[in-house]
Amino acid sequence: MESYFRRYKRQMIMDNFGEEAQLKLKNSSVFIGGIGGLGGTTAAYLAMAGIGKLVIAHSGNLTETNMNRQILMDCGRIGEPRVEIAVDAFKKLNPDMELEMHNVRLLPENTAELIKGCQVAVSARPTFYERKNLNRACVQENIPMIEAAMDGMTAYMFTVNPHKTACLDCMVEKDVNDWEEFGFGVLGAVSGTIGCLTAIEAVKIITGFGEPLGSKMFYMDMSNYRTKHIELKRNPDCKTCGG
Ligand SMILES: [Zn+2]
Repeated sequence: MESYFRRYKRQMIMDNFGEEAQLKLKNSSVFIGGIGGLGGTTAAYLAMAGIGKLVIAHSGNLTETNMNRQILMDCGRIGEPRVEIAVDAFKKLNPDMELEMHNVRLLPENTAELIKGCQVAVSARPTFYERKNLNRACVQENIPMIEAAMDGMTAYMFTVNPHKTACLDCMVEKDVNDWEEFGFGVLGAVSGTIGCLTAIEAVKIITGFGEPLGSKMFYMDMSNYRTKHIELKRNPDCKTCGG
């Protein structure tokens, strides 16, 4: 245990963090839906913070066009499954962390099972379809979900606290199926920035350290560095969390 704490000394000396918050991280599991530019950065920082376990779902193989933003990946391994490449990156960042990797998309029939036992879920898939499946599973399983996304120089993040704050279906009622998965621009430093903020929110939810977002959305525009907080309202008629 002494060597475990040694690695995290610099975060444990923050005011109101200490051994107590560190042990909460060690005893927690986080589900990460997508380890692209955003979710991959979140996963890397949670691994380095000493999270006990990551459960990761990301389908498909590495392509050259992923390499402007995906820090867990490797230019020498184009064509290989991304979940397999990420395992090697995690071993270097935190060899003691438990890992569960799934080379799958988030579907209505598999998502609730994937997130069971996790304290927080991160929504970072490129399609609304998979995000909405994760949202519904998180509300059903009563697991807080951090919803984060980016487009060009802008990004947002909010937390779905099931039956307490707005869920993704409260926000976007219709199922969006015409979203072009690879049609939007990404500067890696922007997806990485919102990925880091998502990791901070996960640490806050797990440890009680600092002040999580609650019912507010955080929005940032990195073209001018402006940020804002927007109060989100639940939809009482939401088909996922209403009634
Ligand atoms: Zn809802």
